[in-house]
Formats: sequence, structure tokens, C-alpha cells
Amino acid sequence: MARRKYVVGNWKMNGLSASIADARAIFAGVAGHPAVDVALCPPFTLLGAMAAVPGAVVGGQDCHRAALGAFTGSIAAPMLADAGASLVIVGHSERREGFGESDGDVRAKAEAGLTAGLSVILCVGEPRDVRESGSAIDYVLAQIAGSVPDNFDPQRLAIAYEPIWAIGTGLVPTVDDVAAMHGAIRGALAGRFGAAADAMRILYGGSVNGDNAAELLGAADVDGALVGGASLTSAKFLPIVEAAAVLG
Ligand code: PEP
Repeated sequence: MARRKYVVGNWKMNGLSASIADARAIFAGVAGHPAVDVALCPPFTLLGAMAAVPGAVVGGQDCHRAALGAFTGSIAAPMLADAGASLVIVGHSERREGFGESDGDVRAKAEAGLTAGLSVILCVGEPRDVRESGSAIDYVLAQIAGSVPDNFDPQRLAIAYEPIWAIGTGLVPTVDDVAAMHGAIRGALAGRFGAAADAMRILYGGSVNGDNAAELLGAADVDGALVGGASLTSAKFLPIVEAAAVLG
């Protein structure tokens, strides 16, 4: 099945109101590539303003598992939707590692996002010592088993494979290693969801930039990219979108 390429920028804890100009430039450039799905995930404070940018598709970087309640400082999935988001990232390694989120937590957040009508990007990925020990695929497939919900529209849930050691480091796995991991993920999804899994996109994330995007996005079973540092400006992000458009 042909899956549309999907390029998602994660701004993390970067961006003030002046940064909406960067989002404007990004979505103006994206308009020239209608065959690629593109979204930006800004900090919560910029969601509403960014959602108002012409052509913008925006998402949250996290959500709470509950729809509302006494959870000071947290943001619920229906609040993201209300602010103009159409997607949410869950299980980013900076949440799993920095905030102690388990596979069960990630699964609950994914379910909360889907229930609120959002699409979900669910992140998995191994730390460096696991890669070096040769058990990266087993590690990631266990994360998939524990954090991917059971019932959902496959078009609305994408997996992002992000080796932790490649995030923000400038290091990237070989294209063969990326293809092997994505193939293993696709096999696991097919084993669990059957033919419906064909519609699920699997993104690669970790130091994607304009120079390596064509090679990484061209690897087998890579349906797009989750991009951190290179998503903050149009000068860095649009070449990645263009690489995806060429591979279309
Ligand atoms: C990320 O944090 O999801 C990410 C991929 O970051 P970077 O592109 O900066 O490595």
C-alpha cells in the first residue's frame, strides 16, 4: 500500500511568540508540496497562534492520560484539540527517560489522544548500550507491544522510531540498520493488526537534516521523519520536506 510521506517537526521547549514568523515561512513553503503531510508540534503556549497560520497543521508534544481533572501543570488531549491541534506526540524518549513514563503510561496517553479525535505519533527507540549489545530490535518491539493500543484507526496512529543516541547528537544509524528496524516494526504491527497495519506510517527520527533526509527517507519502510533541531526554521526544515516530496 502506498503511504503518504509524513514529516513532523518537534519544537520541544523552543519558541516564543516571535517564532510564529518561522512557522509562517514553513507552512508557506509546505504549500508547494501537497503530496507530503507536514505538521509542527510547538510548545503548548504557541499552539493556538500557530494553528491560525495559513495551511498550518499543528500538534502537541505530550498530553495527560486523563481528559480533565486535578493535575496541575498538565494538558489534556481535548485541550490540545480545542487549541487547534490535530495530532499529539506521545512516548518521546525525553518523556520516557526524563519523566519516567512507562509503556503503560504511553499507551494510556495514546488512547487519550485517539479518544479526543487526535492523530497520534507514538515514539519508540533504544538507548546506546542496547544498540551496542545487539538487542535494539527486541527492545523496540517490546516497547511497541507495551505501548501501542489495541483498537484504533490505523490511519490515525504512526510510529516514530527514534534511537535515543541519535537524537540531537548528529549521529545517525546506517540506512541498513534503519531499514532493518522499520521492517521489524512493520512485521510486528502486521502480526498484531493484520492487513490494517499497512496503513500505519513508521517515521524515522534522530538528527535528520537537509543533507541526510533523502537517504534516510528513501530507506525501506520509512514513511517520513520526526525532526527536532532542524524543524525550527524554514531554511533547515523545508529541504527535508522537499526530500520527502521527491520520494513521494
Ligand atoms: C526528536 O527529538 O524527536 C528529534 C528527532 O530531535 P533531533 O532531530 O534534533 O535529533
